[in-house]
Amino acid sequence: MLAYAYGKAEVEWKINNPKRPFPFLTATFRPGVEQNALFAQPTDKKDNDGDGKIDEPDEFVTNARAGQSPHNFNPSYAFDVGFQDDKGKTYWNDLTLFNDFAKLMLKTAGITWGGNFKKLQDRPHFELTGWENMPKK
Ligand SMILES: [Zn+2]
Repeated sequence: MLAYAYGKAEVEWKINNPKRPFPFLTATFRPGVEQNALFAQPTDKKDNDGDGKIDEPDEFVTNARAGQSPHNFNPSYAFDVGFQDDKGKTYWNDLTLFNDFAKLMLKTAGITWGGNFKKLQDRPHFELTGWENMPKK
């Protein structure tokens, strides 16, 4: 379902926006160890974003520990996207790209977009609605 929704949205994007940067997958499955490392960023005494400062508020990127994120299951219940143009330049903060792609993704029922999260909006993130109650491996 998730893969289907992405494939469909990606094709529509390329047809409707031939000159704009196109979406690509940046994260699907994320092991528990990696999830805990992300969770710990604001308190791990490391400079996670490479700006020369240790443990600042902007290193906070997730409120999920291992097993609490839809990325921690295989196959994954979530994926994140970025955008790239045909020269290979990547776009991580262009709100219009994420918002427009989300409109295509949300045409498929059963998808939740991180841009609609009430806490910690996460525009690159899409997940299966109700993944919490789905069978896990
Ligand atoms: Zn995500």
